[in-house]
Amino acid sequence: MSAVIQSIDQIVSINPATGEEIGRVGVTSPDDVAAAIERSRDIFHRWKTTSFSERRRLVMKARDVILAEKEEIAHLISSESGKPFGEAISMEIAPVLDLMQWIAKNAEKMLRPRRVNIGLYAMMGRSSKIVYHPLGVVGIIPAWNFPFSIPLGEAVMALMAGNTAVIKPSELTPLVGLKIGEIFEKAGFPENAVQIVLGAGETGAALVEAAPDKIMFTGSVATGRKIAAAAARNLTSCVLELGGKDPMIVFDDANLELAAGAAVWGAFCNAGQSCSSVERLYVQQNVAETLTKLIVSKTSELVQGSGDREDVSIGPMSSERQIKIVEDHVNDFRENGATVLTGGKRNADAVVRNEAGARTLFFEPTVITGATNDMRAMQEETFGPTLPITTFKTEEEAIALANDSEFGLTASVWTRDLAKGKRVAEQIEAGSVCINEVLYTHGIGQTPWGGFKNSGQGHTHGREGLMELVQPQHIHTNHLSILPDAWWMPYTPTAVETFRGFATKFASGSLIKTARLMPQLWKRISELRKKKS
Ligand code: NAD
Repeated sequence: MSAVIQSIDQIVSINPATGEEIGRVGVTSPDDVAAAIERSRDIFHRWKTTSFSERRRLVMKARDVILAEKEEIAHLISSESGKPFGEAISMEIAPVLDLMQWIAKNAEKMLRPRRVNIGLYAMMGRSSKIVYHPLGVVGIIPAWNFPFSIPLGEAVMALMAGNTAVIKPSELTPLVGLKIGEIFEKAGFPENAVQIVLGAGETGAALVEAAPDKIMFTGSVATGRKIAAAAARNLTSCVLELGGKDPMIVFDDANLELAAGAAVWGAFCNAGQSCSSVERLYVQQNVAETLTKLIVSKTSELVQGSGDREDVSIGPMSSERQIKIVEDHVNDFRENGATVLTGGKRNADAVVRNEAGARTLFFEPTVITGATNDMRAMQEETFGPTLPITTFKTEEEAIALANDSEFGLTASVWTRDLAKGKRVAEQIEAGSVCINEVLYTHGIGQTPWGGFKNSGQGHTHGREGLMELVQPQHIHTNHLSILPDAWWMPYTPTAVETFRGFATKFASGSLIKTARLMPQLWKRISELRKKKS
């Protein structure tokens, strides 16, 4: 059974579409957070000995629980985060189910002890093997924008590697966090293998302070810096998945109809609140007008409203704080001479009236032309439904514009010339670059996810993400332990001459050169054997 620890104050969970309360939860005190880490460490010593087949069985059971409850889970995600119900299924539930089956089936193979080719050391009768050990307790601190798939996926990968987990969900989505705990409980995981602690930044800080063995953080650059600084006090290693300002480059030979559809989805899904949203669009000058018209036309077809309606494509922003950032950025574009072609304001039609009064957290999908990289709104993460468009003339200019950012999470390149697409993609400073695709690579759990530059450090997902959750141990064996090693003490002139040979012959990696060292090596070993007391 997974424990839920609550006490002291409460968090009220609000539906951002209606302003209505969905529920409330108690905040976990710092002492209780520390106690949760201790319980997690206790159960870790048992959990790490479970077989991969048992871990796989439980993860597949958790998948069954999710599948059985997917409609209810999608409604909860939608009502707490504001995203459309359909998006909760397509962008959270489906990808995490895929990640779960993949890691359940493949973790054992990826974590199997492996022999390493140690070159000429093998000639001396040595061998090396890498064994992977779990780390212990993994502390997971996610953002609110993918409140289900991100923490759940990270917890499952941690468990498959033999770790236990304590999750502190975002204060905006605590009920989704509790649901994750419930899923592990229903699947039959041991008590305390996954625990949920609740609260805002202070609870997250208490989790870092309680010194788990790894921290998996998803959120803003500002919070990432605080967590890295606090974790350094205990030398706790962190994976930081931070913000983005992701560019989309459209060349004049691209399929413009598809590029426009991708730009609209990439910029406006989850109301633009995805770390890998298209936040900057660079289009080659001679097709800019055509592409922009297509984008505006496709944007005009989108229905905005409460996420529980199946015809809705864009829900509300998550919070007043977030919508104010979007308003500030749109004003920055306007004041600096860019043109707002459509949208640019809160959606008056989507105002919801209830006992809490009239409110709207809906921001209209906004298309902007004439944006330039020197505008503040082209440099800071907006995290809202805005699509600023800039033109370029040459390939070199497009690459330079895309790389002119502190961020480097994802990017996309659109062209029918795949050789050009690959050439450009490899020059872009971003963790994932798509050719003729946008945004969705976080959903491919088999591939590493992580940012360049200020978009983060370390990885989740893929083999690289799994390696973050284990401690590789090198086991080195001398199979011919009948002779002393030439580099042992006492040192003599013969020893020093042998060491010169190590540097010039053995370290060349050449078998022929190393063979020439043999007489000197034997002289040295004989010298050491004679000194035997
Ligand atoms: P945030 O940084 O405000 O909060 C993230 C989490 O950190 C929350 O759970 C919060 O309670 C907790 N927290 C806050 N202060 C803390 C502290 N001092 N110590 C420990 N925990 C603390 O971010 P947000 O507004 O929830 O999320 C939006 C950001 O997340 C955006 O920048 C977005 O790009 C980023 N994001 C990145 C990825 C990625 O994979 N790179 C994915 C999703 C979101």
